[in-house]
Amino acid sequence: MTAQLIDGNQLSKQLRTEVTARAQALKVKGVTPGLAVVLVGDNPASQVYVRNKVKACEDSGLHSVLEKYEATLTEADLLARVEALNNDPSIHGILVQLPLPAHIDAQKVIEAISPAKDVDGFHIASAGALMTGMPGFWPCTPYGCMKMLDSIAYDLRGKHAVVIGRSNIVGKPMALMLLQKNATVTICHSATPDLKAMTLQADVIVAAVGKRNVLTADMVKPGAVVLDVGMNRNAEGKLCGDVDFEGVKQVASHITPVPGGVGPMTITMLLVNTLEAAERASK
Ligand code: NAP
Repeated sequence: MTAQLIDGNQLSKQLRTEVTARAQALKVKGVTPGLAVVLVGDNPASQVYVRNKVKACEDSGLHSVLEKYEATLTEADLLARVEALNNDPSIHGILVQLPLPAHIDAQKVIEAISPAKDVDGFHIASAGALMTGMPGFWPCTPYGCMKMLDSIAYDLRGKHAVVIGRSNIVGKPMALMLLQKNATVTICHSATPDLKAMTLQADVIVAAVGKRNVLTADMVKPGAVVLDVGMNRNAEGKLCGDVDFEGVKQVASHITPVPGGVGPMTITMLLVNTLEAAERASK
């Protein structure tokens, strides 16, 4: 079997066209959806991420503001900026790019963002909403994975999903989203004794670890759907995921590539969440 590719670039394009149309409809009502991106320090990867996020907003007709601060910015000053953005009616979504410098308590900053503008979905109120099935913002990466499953009309009811990784931003919310769609969910992590025994039972596998080749062909049940969240560099410095793509694509029914898979979907879902925040605020 050669797996069918779930193309994150293609799906993103489609979803972003919908975002542009919805943003246009809001503009007619006098509301331009606005995202504020706050960057503290000069982490090179973060600089690329925020640039991409701001550009994606512009391309989709969303207003965006990029606030850049020196790494020496105090926690109090950052909290004051977040508060100002909470009170700014032209801003519907606030994203504070992580990681923050060590002297700033990132959790405290996230908790300072109004849950109504928490488009990253990292606030404890957003996590609680996801856990209880209440309306709120879903973290963009697992949300993008759910859209990828939707794109192949995959019915999770009665299926066994195995999530590898239990971070607050990917693994745990991913598991909750799959559960909400009636999958039976297993979460694996670094203390899981026999990962292969778990993954071999899975109809859907989401790998969110950050290590190359965590998932190889011998660990995958024929016909399983494999979503690769990982972002790593191989020996040649090329971007790659957690999954041995060449091997696993011979066994899986569907697979996401890296690059061009979950990555572009993450930014797309940030646009979707920002638009949603603006729509809610304008009701
Ligand atoms: P993280 O916070 O470092 O979490 C990694 C998880 O993997 C942890 O739960 C860890 O277990 C588990 N783990 C580590 N080694 C393992 C092993 N050998 N077997 C099974 N589980 C293992 O990372 P993250 O923020 O969730 O991100 C995961 C990956 O996704 C990274 O490569 C990151 O760059 C990527 N990512 C991509 C996007 C995107 O847009 N494409 C977005 C976010 C993240 P413990 O909890 O026991 O330590």
